Amino acid sequence: MRPATSDPLDLEAFRQHGHSLVDWLADYLGSLDSRPVCETVQPGDVRAKLPSRAPEQPEPFEAVLADLDRVVVPGLAHWQHPGWLGYFPAASSPASVLGELATAGFGVVGMLWSSSPAATEIESHVLDWLVDLLGVPQQWKTTDVGGGVLQSGASASTHTMLVVAREVCRERTGTVTDDMVVYTSSEAHSSVEKGARMAGYRHIRLLQTDAELAVRPDSFVAAIETDRSAGLVPTFVCSTVGTTGTTAVDPVRHIAEIARSEQIWHHVDAAYAGAAMICEEFRPHQDGLELVDSYTFNPHKWLATNLNCSVMWVADRRPLIETLSVLPPYLRNEASASGQVIDYRDWHLPLDRPFRALKLWFVLRSFGAEGLRRMIRNHVSWTRRIVECIDRHPNLECIAPSPFALVAFVHRGGNEATDDLVARVNRDGRFYITASEADGRRYARIVVGSTWTTEAHIDSVCDLIDKSARR
Ligand SMILES: *Cc1c(COP(=O)(O)O)cnc(C)c1O
Repeated sequence: MRPATSDPLDLEAFRQHGHSLVDWLADYLGSLDSRPVCETVQPGDVRAKLPSRAPEQPEPFEAVLADLDRVVVPGLAHWQHPGWLGYFPAASSPASVLGELATAGFGVVGMLWSSSPAATEIESHVLDWLVDLLGVPQQWKTTDVGGGVLQSGASASTHTMLVVAREVCRERTGTVTDDMVVYTSSEAHSSVEKGARMAGYRHIRLLQTDAELAVRPDSFVAAIETDRSAGLVPTFVCSTVGTTGTTAVDPVRHIAEIARSEQIWHHVDAAYAGAAMICEEFRPHQDGLELVDSYTFNPHKWLATNLNCSVMWVADRRPLIETLSVLPPYLRNEASASGQVIDYRDWHLPLDRPFRALKLWFVLRSFGAEGLRRMIRNHVSWTRRIVECIDRHPNLECIAPSPFALVAFVHRGGNEATDDLVARVNRDGRFYITASEADGRRYARIVVGSTWTTEAHIDSVCDLIDKSARR
């Protein structure tokens, strides 16, 4: 007889195992401070611990759980570690994990309003809340002419907007995609170029930046002129609020004014920095949003909500829906035909879509806006302390301003010394930082954004950097 706990459909066992998994996760998260941020793994190490064939017979859940310790943990980079200061954070939180669990438990597909009304209405409502919380234009609410939707990531949002802009341009001017041009900063995220290629654009211009690595509007104007005189049609521009390299901020209003007068679709990528707008003092960085067509930011980066959770807003939802709506007979229903509901299947590529809003709703209610503001403000003020520690150091130098919670700096000894410093900090094990490059110059990046980081961790990393950069 097989043990009761191995029956995959036994609800009492589910209850028990669910409790032990949550216990396990609480222990895991609580233990991170005493582990290295990144485990040491060689290629193939993880697979070598797995049987070559899938199990024929049910295994007890205890065996599965034990393999989290034996197989999974030793093969992880611990993104939720309080010492995680690399890339951008993928901030999560207990509330978010529980929201995700509830999503999996419901297992609904919110492709149409009628296929799960609560999934659609909570998503619309929570994203309308965020319009107020982040101080973006009221017009972006679903109760107005715009609207928000949750996507898998900023890459998907930007790609979707590139497709819509292409169709809008084709409708208006009869231009073929081969003659359309996309503009963005040379510091923009690679997803803009990738999305443009996937949307069929052939002409992608990477514009010059200024001393602070923000895009130069005069370089945008010059590129438009050159392209127009070559018979091409400027179609799409993406400005970034908080670039991936150094969190540089493009002049949104200036770019928007040019884009408006040239009838170019203007999309804003605030994947990382958008979260900061929950605090009023950061909003001047994205002044001019009432002039833009679309916007994306990732609560899964810096708003305590786990992957995947990216907000896409449009100022006017009509062109989006006109471009993406294809209605096969098996999806026809009365609610959709009435025009009174939102069918999110028309807002992105996937038809099947998870109930992503649930975890965001859990997070907003568990932290409260004040709790999230406090977290962002802590991260930003701790970052200022790291900047001060770098400014004081004889061998170190910041290479760009730090408007949010990222510090970009170099070792004065040059590229090799900078890479060496990053390696030395990471070898210590308590923290993980990454490096990048601008104009041939290597630099170190520190981003404070893990939900679990405390001020004491900042003291320690300042000490460690100070010592590691002494030679
Ligand atoms: C992280 C990042 C992206 C990519 O976001 P995904 O959600 O991974 O697609 C895009 N733009 C910027 C500025 C980013 O920092």
